[in-house]
Amino acid sequence: MPEEHEDRTCERCGTRAAVYQQFGLHLCRRCFREMAPKMGFEKHE
Ligand SMILES: [Zn+2]
Repeated sequence: MPEEHEDRTCERCGTRAAVYQQFGLHLCRRCFREMAPKMGFEKHE
């Protein structure tokens, strides 16, 4: 029986609120917005 271990914490600041799992990263909304431009995840206009 596989364990459904949801460990969604921001790997940058450690918060557990609004953490996104995208691009193999675990980042909260705030950190994601800070990191996105640096990582080339800017919105396409
Ligand atoms: Zn964060």
